[in-house]
Amino acid sequence: MADRERALLLLVLAAACRAAAREAEDPARARERMVHEQIEARGVTDARTLAAMRAVERHRFVPPEQADLAYADHPLPIGAGQTISQPYIVAVMTAALGLRGGEKVLEIGTGSGYQAAVLAAAGAKVYTIEIVPTLAEEARARLARLGYRAVQVRQGNGWKGWPEDAPFDAILVTAAAPEVPEPLRRQLRDGGRLVIPVGDADQELRVLTRQGDAYHEQRLFPVRFVPLVGGPSARTVPEPSHPGRSPASPIP
Ligand code: SAH
Repeated sequence: MADRERALLLLVLAAACRAAAREAEDPARARERMVHEQIEARGVTDARTLAAMRAVERHRFVPPEQADLAYADHPLPIGAGQTISQPYIVAVMTAALGLRGGEKVLEIGTGSGYQAAVLAAAGAKVYTIEIVPTLAEEARARLARLGYRAVQVRQGNGWKGWPEDAPFDAILVTAAAPEVPEPLRRQLRDGGRLVIPVGDADQELRVLTRQGDAYHEQRLFPVRFVPLVGGPSARTVPEPSHPGRSPASPIP
């Protein structure tokens, strides 16, 4: 190769490296692209949800070694065998709640605290429950550090809900249950919406709207979440399981 060609090649490579580094260094741009390409492009139009997804710094909710992948189109491990859901799924579930600002929202399955932060950024007052003590503590500290004062984190079994502060305008469950837990139905305000993945191996995302004592049910699409463990009456924290699964992602 001639010297000139070699020099040109080096220049091109250097420019490509600088571009890649800029990209890695600029989470705001990565986030904008995430919202545009993964969320708007797939049909989520709710302005409040889109603004919240643009605002919350997802890279602060994943382990440092995963920060580069924070805005990628898939779920990520967050420790204790659990995962932070794919951004698109977080957006769909948030949009399905139909928030207008000022609602009281209960989340079951705090995990990293990311979904709770998105709900808070959408204007909700958030009550969130996590069964794994280390995750609950980490999420509480992270949300406080990032200034999410509208989020309360409780460690415990979310099957029972949060009766002291019920009813809730909306309820979001981010782990799959074989059926909709009865206490959660009861803690939903009349007219409120409950979004939950239902099933075991085959799961689907459901949206229940309460109408008095009746619940209108809408089925969205197949999903794959980690299981809602503990059951209605368990007291102990079971071992995290299902390592082979790729949780919280849609099945095309
Ligand atoms: N919403 C989270 C991701 C949820 S992953 C985020 O944004 O990061 C599902 C979470 O549900 C896990 O952290 C798991 O420990 C928790 N979980 C499972 N069963 C639960 C139960 N019975 N009560 C509360 N949390 C539970």
